[in-house]
Amino acid sequence: MPDNLTPAARFLCMSHNRGKNTSPELILRRKLHMLGYRYRLHRRDLPGAPDLVFPSRNVAIFVNGCFWHRHICAKGRSTPKTNRAFWKNKFAKNIALDQRNISALSKRGWKVLIIWECEIMHSDRWMQKACKLLKG
Ligand SMILES: [Zn+2]
Repeated sequence: MPDNLTPAARFLCMSHNRGKNTSPELILRRKLHMLGYRYRLHRRDLPGAPDLVFPSRNVAIFVNGCFWHRHICAKGRSTPKTNRAFWKNKFAKNIALDQRNISALSKRGWKVLIIWECEIMHSDRWMQKACKLLKG
């Protein structure tokens, strides 16, 4: 592995979680599809390119990785021990960007739902939240 990678890039190389089309997102997509919902993926013309977009219902869903987007779970609270300043800065930027995207989407009339990867992996409760929003 080359040495000139940023710590974040190195982390990405070591983990198998490459952002898009990660398995929690696939699980979510499969279940919503089974429930009969149809969606568009990664609409780049919308702030933050939401993972799933339901155009007729004005609902946008982000499937957030706990580590990168700083969920309150154990994974989201862990920070690599080396390069702490780098990570703090990176996480702060991610959080600020998430907030900016959510508020930009809301201003355009989108209902935004964040679903965390650990929620998808450990229970089906996220489905109630999603269905409530999609039916509403
Ligand atoms: Zn989490």
